[in-house]
Amino acid sequence: MFVGHYAPVFALAAARRAPGLGAGFVAVQLVDLGFFSLSYFGIEKWRANPALEGFMPIDLYYMPFTHSLAGSAAWALGAAAVTALVSPAGRRALNAVIIGALVLSHWLLDLIVHRHDLPLIHDSEEKFGFALWDQPALVVPLELGLLFAGFALFLRATKPKGALGAVMPWLLLALLLGVQAFNWFTPPEPDPALFSILGVSAYLIFAALALATDRTRA
Ligand SMILES: [Zn+2]
Repeated sequence: MFVGHYAPVFALAAARRAPGLGAGFVAVQLVDLGFFSLSYFGIEKWRANPALEGFMPIDLYYMPFTHSLAGSAAWALGAAAVTALVSPAGRRALNAVIIGALVLSHWLLDLIVHRHDLPLIHDSEEKFGFALWDQPALVVPLELGLLFAGFALFLRATKPKGALGAVMPWLLLALLLGVQAFNWFTPPEPDPALFSILGVSAYLIFAALALATDRTRA
Protein backbone atom coordinates (compact mmCIF):
# COMPACT_ATOMS: atom_id res chain seq x y z
CA MET A 1 0.00 0.00 0.00
CA PHE A 2 1.15 3.54 -0.67
CA VAL A 3 -1.00 6.66 -0.16
CA GLY A 4 -3.67 4.73 1.80
CA HIS A 5 -1.15 4.55 4.67
CA TYR A 6 -1.70 8.27 5.26
CA ALA A 7 -5.44 7.90 6.02
CA PRO A 8 -4.98 7.22 9.76
CA VAL A 9 -2.62 10.21 10.10
CA PHE A 10 -5.12 12.62 8.53
CA ALA A 11 -7.94 11.11 10.60
CA LEU A 12 -5.98 11.45 13.85
CA ALA A 13 -4.98 15.03 13.03
CA ALA A 14 -8.68 15.73 12.55
CA ALA A 15 -9.31 14.37 16.05
CA ARG A 16 -6.59 16.68 17.39
CA ARG A 17 -4.93 13.77 19.10
CA ALA A 18 -1.93 13.42 16.86
CA PRO A 19 1.63 14.55 17.58
CA GLY A 20 1.58 16.34 14.19
CA LEU A 21 1.08 15.58 10.53
CA GLY A 22 4.83 15.54 9.75
CA ALA A 23 5.69 13.04 12.50
CA GLY A 24 2.67 10.94 11.55
CA PHE A 25 3.74 10.85 7.91
CA VAL A 26 7.14 9.49 8.91
CA ALA A 27 5.57 7.01 11.37
CA VAL A 28 3.20 5.30 8.92
CA GLN A 29 6.00 4.80 6.37
CA LEU A 30 8.78 4.08 8.88
CA VAL A 31 9.08 0.39 8.00
CA ASP A 32 9.16 1.24 4.28
CA LEU A 33 11.89 3.81 4.97
CA GLY A 34 13.67 0.93 6.75
CA PHE A 35 13.04 -1.40 3.80
CA PHE A 36 14.36 1.05 1.20
CA SER A 37 17.43 1.74 3.36
CA LEU A 38 18.18 -1.94 4.03
CA SER A 39 17.54 -2.97 0.42
CA TYR A 40 19.95 -0.24 -0.71
CA PHE A 41 22.66 -2.19 1.11
CA GLY A 42 21.31 -5.57 -0.06
CA ILE A 43 20.24 -6.58 3.45
CA GLU A 44 16.57 -6.92 2.48
CA LYS A 45 15.83 -8.16 -1.04
CA TRP A 46 13.39 -7.82 -3.93
CA ARG A 47 13.50 -8.53 -7.67
CA ALA A 48 11.43 -7.43 -10.64
CA ASN A 49 8.95 -10.04 -11.86
CA PRO A 50 7.25 -8.90 -15.10
CA ALA A 51 5.16 -12.11 -15.08
CA LEU A 52 3.09 -10.70 -12.23
CA GLU A 53 -0.15 -9.09 -13.36
CA GLY A 54 -1.55 -5.99 -11.70
CA PHE A 55 0.38 -3.38 -9.76
CA MET A 56 3.87 -3.64 -8.25
CA PRO A 57 5.29 -6.45 -10.43
CA ILE A 58 8.09 -7.25 -8.01
CA ASP A 59 8.87 -10.16 -5.68
CA LEU A 60 9.51 -8.86 -2.18
CA TYR A 61 11.13 -12.12 -1.15
CA TYR A 62 13.28 -11.20 1.85
CA MET A 63 12.07 -8.51 4.30
CA PRO A 64 12.55 -10.08 7.76
CA PHE A 65 13.60 -6.92 9.59
CA THR A 66 10.96 -4.47 8.38
CA HIS A 67 7.93 -6.36 7.06
CA SER A 68 7.62 -9.31 9.44
CA LEU A 69 4.93 -8.65 12.04
CA ALA A 70 7.52 -9.01 14.80
CA GLY A 71 9.93 -6.71 12.94
CA SER A 72 7.23 -4.08 12.47
CA ALA A 73 6.34 -4.34 16.16
CA ALA A 74 9.99 -3.76 17.07
CA TRP A 75 10.11 -0.63 14.85
CA ALA A 76 6.86 0.52 16.52
CA LEU A 77 8.33 0.05 20.00
CA GLY A 78 11.52 1.86 19.01
CA ALA A 79 9.57 4.76 17.52
CA ALA A 80 7.33 4.92 20.60
CA ALA A 81 10.39 5.06 22.87
CA VAL A 82 11.99 7.88 20.86
CA THR A 83 8.66 9.75 20.79
CA ALA A 84 8.35 9.49 24.59
CA LEU A 85 11.87 10.93 24.95
CA VAL A 86 11.30 13.94 22.70
CA SER A 87 7.67 14.75 23.64
CA PRO A 88 6.80 17.43 26.19
CA ALA A 89 5.99 16.18 29.71
CA GLY A 90 2.30 15.39 29.98
CA ARG A 91 2.09 14.27 26.35
CA ARG A 92 4.76 11.57 26.48
CA ALA A 93 2.57 8.49 26.98
CA LEU A 94 -0.17 9.57 24.55
CA ASN A 95 2.25 10.60 21.79
CA ALA A 96 4.24 7.37 22.22
CA VAL A 97 1.13 5.19 21.95
CA ILE A 98 -0.15 7.08 18.90
CA ILE A 99 3.17 6.98 17.04
CA GLY A 100 3.68 3.29 17.91
CA ALA A 101 0.18 2.47 16.62
CA LEU A 102 0.76 4.45 13.41
CA VAL A 103 4.02 2.55 12.76
CA LEU A 104 2.25 -0.78 13.28
CA SER A 105 -0.71 0.29 11.09
CA HIS A 106 1.66 0.03 8.10
CA TRP A 107 1.89 -3.77 8.38
CA LEU A 108 -1.87 -4.20 8.73
CA LEU A 109 -2.63 -2.07 5.65
CA ASP A 110 0.20 -3.74 3.68
CA LEU A 111 -1.41 -7.10 4.53
CA ILE A 112 -4.39 -6.19 2.32
CA VAL A 113 -2.39 -5.50 -0.85
CA HIS A 114 0.85 -7.55 -0.60
CA ARG A 115 1.23 -10.94 -2.31
CA HIS A 116 2.02 -13.54 0.37
CA ASP A 117 5.35 -11.94 1.27
CA LEU A 118 4.73 -10.76 4.86
CA PRO A 119 6.16 -13.18 7.48
CA LEU A 120 5.11 -13.20 11.15
CA ILE A 121 8.62 -13.53 12.59
CA HIS A 122 11.89 -12.86 10.75
CA ASP A 123 11.74 -14.85 7.48
CA SER A 124 9.36 -17.55 8.73
CA GLU A 125 8.15 -20.09 6.17
CA GLU A 126 4.49 -19.07 6.00
CA LYS A 127 3.92 -15.63 4.53
CA PHE A 128 0.78 -13.52 4.41
CA GLY A 129 -0.94 -11.00 2.14
CA PHE A 130 -4.36 -10.80 0.48
CA ALA A 131 -2.75 -9.86 -2.86
CA LEU A 132 -5.02 -6.99 -3.85
CA TRP A 133 -2.17 -5.70 -6.04
CA ASP A 134 -3.29 -8.44 -8.44
CA GLN A 135 -6.63 -6.67 -8.82
CA PRO A 136 -6.26 -3.00 -9.78
CA ALA A 137 -10.07 -2.64 -10.01
CA LEU A 138 -10.18 -3.24 -6.24
CA VAL A 139 -6.95 -1.67 -5.07
CA VAL A 140 -7.49 1.72 -6.77
CA PRO A 141 -10.81 2.50 -5.05
CA LEU A 142 -9.53 1.09 -1.76
CA GLU A 143 -6.34 3.13 -1.68
CA LEU A 144 -7.96 6.35 -2.99
CA GLY A 145 -11.02 5.86 -0.77
CA LEU A 146 -8.84 5.60 2.34
CA LEU A 147 -6.82 8.68 1.37
CA PHE A 148 -9.86 10.81 0.46
CA ALA A 149 -11.75 9.81 3.63
CA GLY A 150 -8.81 10.77 5.85
CA PHE A 151 -8.15 13.96 3.89
CA ALA A 152 -11.83 15.02 4.10
CA LEU A 153 -11.80 14.55 7.89
CA PHE A 154 -8.63 16.64 8.14
CA LEU A 155 -10.06 19.45 5.97
CA ARG A 156 -13.28 19.59 7.97
CA ALA A 157 -11.57 19.59 11.37
CA THR A 158 -8.90 22.23 10.61
CA LYS A 159 -9.03 25.80 9.34
CA PRO A 160 -6.52 27.70 7.21
CA LYS A 161 -4.43 30.22 9.19
CA GLY A 162 -3.84 32.34 6.09
CA ALA A 163 -3.88 32.22 2.31
CA LEU A 164 -1.22 29.50 2.31
CA GLY A 165 -3.33 27.31 4.60
CA ALA A 166 -6.07 27.16 1.99
CA VAL A 167 -3.66 25.92 -0.68
CA MET A 168 -1.20 23.65 1.13
CA PRO A 169 -3.50 20.66 1.80
CA TRP A 170 -4.44 20.53 -1.88
CA LEU A 171 -0.80 20.76 -2.91
CA LEU A 172 -0.03 17.85 -0.58
CA LEU A 173 -2.97 15.83 -1.97
CA ALA A 174 -1.92 16.56 -5.57
CA LEU A 175 1.64 15.40 -4.86
CA LEU A 176 0.42 12.21 -3.18
CA LEU A 177 -1.89 11.41 -6.10
CA GLY A 178 0.77 12.23 -8.69
CA VAL A 179 3.38 9.95 -7.12
CA GLN A 180 0.76 7.24 -6.55
CA ALA A 181 -0.17 7.33 -10.24
CA PHE A 182 3.51 7.12 -11.18
CA ASN A 183 3.88 4.13 -8.82
CA TRP A 184 0.87 2.35 -10.35
CA PHE A 185 1.29 3.07 -14.02
CA THR A 186 5.04 2.99 -14.69
CA PRO A 187 7.26 -0.10 -14.37
CA PRO A 188 9.36 -0.26 -11.18
CA GLU A 189 12.80 1.33 -11.40
CA PRO A 190 15.11 -1.59 -12.31
CA ASP A 191 18.24 -0.22 -10.60
CA PRO A 192 17.90 -1.33 -6.94
CA ALA A 193 19.99 1.55 -5.57
CA LEU A 194 17.97 4.15 -7.48
CA PHE A 195 14.73 2.39 -6.49
CA SER A 196 15.73 2.82 -2.83
CA ILE A 197 16.76 6.46 -3.25
CA LEU A 198 13.49 7.31 -5.04
CA GLY A 199 11.47 5.59 -2.31
CA VAL A 200 13.19 7.32 0.60
CA SER A 201 13.12 10.69 -1.18
CA ALA A 202 9.39 10.45 -1.93
CA TYR A 203 8.50 9.64 1.68
CA LEU A 204 10.71 12.40 3.09
CA ILE A 205 9.32 15.00 0.68
CA PHE A 206 5.75 13.94 1.59
CA ALA A 207 6.62 14.30 5.30
CA ALA A 208 8.21 17.73 4.81
CA LEU A 209 5.17 18.97 2.89
CA ALA A 210 2.86 17.47 5.54
CA LEU A 211 4.80 19.32 8.25
CA ALA A 212 4.49 22.57 6.28
CA THR A 213 0.77 21.95 5.74
CA ASP A 214 0.27 21.36 9.48
CA ARG A 215 1.86 24.74 10.24
CA THR A 216 -0.60 26.55 7.98
CA ARG A 217 -3.74 25.03 9.55
CA ALA A 218 -5.33 25.49 12.98
ZN1 LIG B 1 5.46 -1.57 3.32
